[in-house]
Amino acid sequence: MQRSFSGLNCGRWLLLVMLLCGFSAAAMASAPVMSVGSFSTVADGEHDDGADFAKILDGEFDDQFLAVDGAVELRGGSKYTHWLRLRPDPEAVSGSHGWRLRLERLPLDRVSLFVPRPGQRPESRYLSFFHPTEQDGVLANGFVFDLPDPLPSTLYMAINTRVDLSVEPTLLVDRQYHVDERRLASLYGAVYAVILVLMLGSLALYLALRERAYLHFVGVSAALVLLLAALNGHLYAIPVLRLAAWAGPGIVGGLMLLVSALSIGFARYFLNLDQHAAKLARPLRYIEWLLLVVVVFSLFNIDGLHAPLFGMGVMTWPLASLLVAALAVLAWRRGQRGAPAFAVIWCLIAVAATIRVAVTQGWVESVLPGLIGSQLLLAVAAFLISIVLADRVMEFRTQRDEAQEVTQRSEADLRLEHQRRDLVEGLQEALRGAPPGDLQWIAFRRLLATLSELLPHQGMALVGFGYHQLDLLLAEPGDHSQRVRQLLAERGGNIKGICRGRTPMQLHFTEADKVVVEAGEEPPENPVCGRFAVVPLEIAKPGWGGVIIESEEERQYSHADLRRVAELAALALEITDDAVSQHDLRRRAEIDSLTGTFNRRAGETMLESAFEHAQQGRLPLSTLFIDLDHFKRINDEFGHPVGDECLRLLAECLRRQLRGEDVVSRYGGEEFLVLLPGQSQDQARKIAERIREAVGALRVKHETGLAKFTVSIGVAARKGDEGAANELIERADRAMYQAKRNGRNRVQLAGNYQPGQDGFEPGDLIL
Ligand code: GH3
Ligand code: MG
Ligand code: MG
Repeated sequence: MQRSFSGLNCGRWLLLVMLLCGFSAAAMASAPVMSVGSFSTVADGEHDDGADFAKILDGEFDDQFLAVDGAVELRGGSKYTHWLRLRPDPEAVSGSHGWRLRLERLPLDRVSLFVPRPGQRPESRYLSFFHPTEQDGVLANGFVFDLPDPLPSTLYMAINTRVDLSVEPTLLVDRQYHVDERRLASLYGAVYAVILVLMLGSLALYLALRERAYLHFVGVSAALVLLLAALNGHLYAIPVLRLAAWAGPGIVGGLMLLVSALSIGFARYFLNLDQHAAKLARPLRYIEWLLLVVVVFSLFNIDGLHAPLFGMGVMTWPLASLLVAALAVLAWRRGQRGAPAFAVIWCLIAVAATIRVAVTQGWVESVLPGLIGSQLLLAVAAFLISIVLADRVMEFRTQRDEAQEVTQRSEADLRLEHQRRDLVEGLQEALRGAPPGDLQWIAFRRLLATLSELLPHQGMALVGFGYHQLDLLLAEPGDHSQRVRQLLAERGGNIKGICRGRTPMQLHFTEADKVVVEAGEEPPENPVCGRFAVVPLEIAKPGWGGVIIESEEERQYSHADLRRVAELAALALEITDDAVSQHDLRRRAEIDSLTGTFNRRAGETMLESAFEHAQQGRLPLSTLFIDLDHFKRINDEFGHPVGDECLRLLAECLRRQLRGEDVVSRYGGEEFLVLLPGQSQDQARKIAERIREAVGALRVKHETGLAKFTVSIGVAARKGDEGAANELIERADRAMYQAKRNGRNRVQLAGNYQPGQDGFEPGDLIL
């Protein structure tokens, strides 16, 4: 933006100079000091130009000249020669010397002046719009002829033009001419400079910002400068560009059409018509293309096309400017920013174009103020457009930045959503079949893996104290845990305080920070220093925990970053808590409340899966069916509470006597089923015997003393051909009954039970 404003400043100074020049130039209005007569000849075979020429100068056609007041209208066409007879007013010109004859510089092909010389043929000189002489200079304005002193009483001027124009010859004294000439030259120079500076500034801005509105303005202003130079006749004095002279006045019309087409295109883009008014934009695009095609035709010097092209340009330029102003008004009503200013500016341009056209066509009396005024207006308009453009481009950029920000934000949201989903799905999957003691570890490991991908860091740790009665510390990379332990030892109070709150915090520990130590302890030699972010974990009191992230040098995490960490951590903990409580619930449903062993349903389910597992792996599996002897009597004698206590003691005794992988379940009132995976019948028998003896040693307190009780145990080992788990239970059950029958307080091995077969095989061992 800096560059644009320096360009605009430059433009402002030039504008000021231009205005001063303009006013002074406008102030010079010359009083009519001669009478003008006009007469036209047509070279179509009816007249002989050479003969006419001599006769006219001899005054033979003087009676054909019609007196003209003001501008002389000239009909365009190469067959016409327009003659002007100029008679200076002797009174008005007397006393002044050094007269010059001046004609506005309009696209006239040839302006010839015949100055009478006593006794000789009149001296003839000519000037051409399209072929300026060196005397005309680069910024010529007007066709100027030096006149002899004393001023002749009659001068003849012959004009050829291919397009319809109006001219108004004036007489000027030498001094006034020089002053005016300089003023006008600086005015034209300033107008060109303003538009060119704005154009180049816009080009630079386009190259820097790649904003197409600037490119449109470059196009419009370039075409405008060319048009003004072509209309003023300066284009044909510039090397290379003077080639345009070949195309004649048609190209002036072509340039007006080009300015019109580019203006409409500019408006279409600037006013966002393609998006907001597509129905309007389409015909506009057709108009632009049509005009551009006509412009191409104007490049060729086609004799019959000069007048139509010039006429079309003259009509189109003001109308197209008005059209743009109208489009801006429509956009204004839609609330488009910059549209009101755009509308006003294009109204100015329409006025300038109309004035310029009116001057060229001789529709106005005062040619010079019109010429100056229109050019000034155009320069002012160009300047204003560049200001509106800067404002608009600012808005474009703000909108684009906002759009980019929204995109980035939604991309970040999307990424977070993915991470969140991956964490949730992965964690739920991992926790599903996990053993209850591992749930928290698994959750911490998963969460740490996700979080460590989320933020750049030197080390990251998850700590949880009293989290489901567990103390956990997991770090990434692995050796970072040592550093975190030290940190917790030195600054534990600090970190605990943050973890107990809800807000993530960032800490910077330096050597200078005081390390709080227990009374009597030495402060550490190398306290942990660095930048740490601590994000609290929602762990039920009195537990606490948090994510401790050690950041890279000088790095501060944003609030959004830490919020994301907190969010994912909360999610992971929530899933873990759910998994833990579900697990507890499941367990509670499987556990017998009196004895704390599994209930019958759980015992059977476990037996089934253990049976399947053993069957597949051809592994031994044994079961014990244990029944309290004469339990009814115990109940009857000492009461139910004592009976209950017997059951509790028995269950506890069983747990004590068995390994971790063995399963005890309460199968019935005073019956227990024990699974012994991996144990053969012989091993199972020994275990059963051990249990029996241990139960025999148990004592139950009752009101008057101690009671003891015994158990009968049936032992069954899985046989290779055994089809189902319940067959195994049945065999163990029968063996138990056999033990009862054999006198109770004993262990009985099961026989080869076949479904439907009752009784025991000979050789069953009865202990
Ligand atoms: P046997 O030696 O033949 O097994 O004799 P028993 O008395 O132990 O067998 P029986 O099946 O006749 O009696 C079982 C008793 O267990 C009946 C019931 O009152 C008692 N019982 C069942 N469940 C409970 C319980 O949860 N608590 C208490 N205290 N007694 C129970
Ligand atoms: Mg029983
Ligand atoms: Mg019993």
